[in-house]
Amino acid sequence: MAATSDRPSPATTRRKAGRHRGEGQWAVGHFTPLNGNEQFKKDDDGLNVRTRIETVYAKTGFASIDPNDLRGRMRWWGLYTQRKPGIDGGKTAVLEPEELEDEYFMLRVRVDGGRLSVAQLRAIGEVSQEYARGTADITDRQNIQLHWVRIEDVPAIWRKLESVGLSTTEACGDCPRVIIGSPVAGIAADEIIDGSPAIAEIERRFIGSKEFSNLPRKFKTAISGSPVQDVVHEINDVAFVGVEHPEHGPGFDLWVGGGLSTNPRLGERLGAWVPLAEVPDAWAGVVGIFRDYGYRRLRNRARLKFLMADWGPEKFRQVLEDEYLKRKLIDGPAPAEPSSRWRDHIGVHRQKDGRFYVGFAPRVGRVDGATLVKVAELAAAHGSDRLNTTVEQKMIILDVAEEQVEPLVAGLEALDFQVRPSPFRRGTMACTGIEFCKLAIVETKGRGAALIDELERRMPDFEEPITINLNGCPNACARIQTADIGLKGQLVLDEDGNQVEGYQVHLGGALGLQAGFGRKVRGLKVTAAELPDYVERVLTNFQEQREVGERFAT
Ligand code: SF4
Repeated sequence: MAATSDRPSPATTRRKAGRHRGEGQWAVGHFTPLNGNEQFKKDDDGLNVRTRIETVYAKTGFASIDPNDLRGRMRWWGLYTQRKPGIDGGKTAVLEPEELEDEYFMLRVRVDGGRLSVAQLRAIGEVSQEYARGTADITDRQNIQLHWVRIEDVPAIWRKLESVGLSTTEACGDCPRVIIGSPVAGIAADEIIDGSPAIAEIERRFIGSKEFSNLPRKFKTAISGSPVQDVVHEINDVAFVGVEHPEHGPGFDLWVGGGLSTNPRLGERLGAWVPLAEVPDAWAGVVGIFRDYGYRRLRNRARLKFLMADWGPEKFRQVLEDEYLKRKLIDGPAPAEPSSRWRDHIGVHRQKDGRFYVGFAPRVGRVDGATLVKVAELAAAHGSDRLNTTVEQKMIILDVAEEQVEPLVAGLEALDFQVRPSPFRRGTMACTGIEFCKLAIVETKGRGAALIDELERRMPDFEEPITINLNGCPNACARIQTADIGLKGQLVLDEDGNQVEGYQVHLGGALGLQAGFGRKVRGLKVTAAELPDYVERVLTNFQEQREVGERFAT
């Protein structure tokens, strides 16, 4: 549960002091690499692989790639090998990585703050068509991912992306990943503060810098000054959340140590108010603590949330002030309840300058290169040069004049991008799943899209905000623990005792002031075939039994 008072919440379960000594923390002298990942990072910085890709691997081909580059350092440039087609989910845990992987890559394009120009979106669409078989997925961290990329084409892809100011630098790997930001920063009429200058400054100073290119594991950042709290700040390693300080005015409340995956944990407030100009330094201090004190011995304990669980917010703040910032932070208030139950900005909204932004919903983030080019052209034809991705796998076109709104809406809907979607289209997300992901056990994207269609047909009058998130494995790429209905992919038994694709059900997760993780419904697993029936039953029961004003999560 997130703290609501002005001071940090008391620590929940802190482990005994002394446990840290053998955790592989650099700050206490543990520089000897304790696992294979730490060893390859010590042998050569992940960022250095770019030169080898450009000068060697792109010419000599997939088979020539050093395994430590292939399955390690190439992530620092947004490249993962994708799953070989036709391998079923039952083999995921038993095959070696080289047996699961294809000679093609997923390439993640970093979109900090979700901000794209028309030229940038068009370039991604063209790269997708030319080098990625037309694939493109909007992720729930505002990135865009392409598949079927050949190593031979990577230098040309980088040239094209970089010519419009995009990059894949540190899009994956043990480093600061994309900084998610409010997709309506700077334009929303109800904004507390615009965090985008801080995002740009962090990018300029620290992304691609060797100061933070060897962290214990990935590091996730969220910055938003929107009262909607539209960046899932509760589950990021560090988050800056817009608040109005009674004496100092608008600034940011600092949260640390959130994360999902197999040990989910909500971030905690440090009780500190940070002015916009000081966000980059405060960010660098938190990342510095993670680099120096983070646990490197075991990969599954290497995220910042484990250090935070042991230290608690008081100690974390003290180390940040004393050792990194060399000054005291200002005490500050907690953010209020999010101002809207939908946090995605779908629909037509007036900007503070009198123009409009238009949020629209693809199905489960799946688009394609040709369509992205059409969206870019549509935005330009209606007078916009700015589009944003959202953390709900959706998109927004900004700066639309009033008379252009309805023609733009019609153009989007002609591409099957709904501006006034059903709650099912709006609230359903899916991770990559078995189509491309080497860790997957089940299919997700196609099933999520089919579930939307089926629920729209069966429940046309359902109007409640609802989130339905599908994961292809026990990881948490689609945030199942924070969904109203979270579906964790696994193999299950059908009525006849056959092993088939299905899902473990989690119910009642939420973010915001009532944040909490969905409860795993004991023994409740549904086969993929039963999924629409099951979800319809749950939603019908909710409609019939809820009290006035009751949310699904309560
Ligand atoms: Fe892959 Fe699992 Fe993440 Fe889905 S949740 S993208 S299957 S690792």
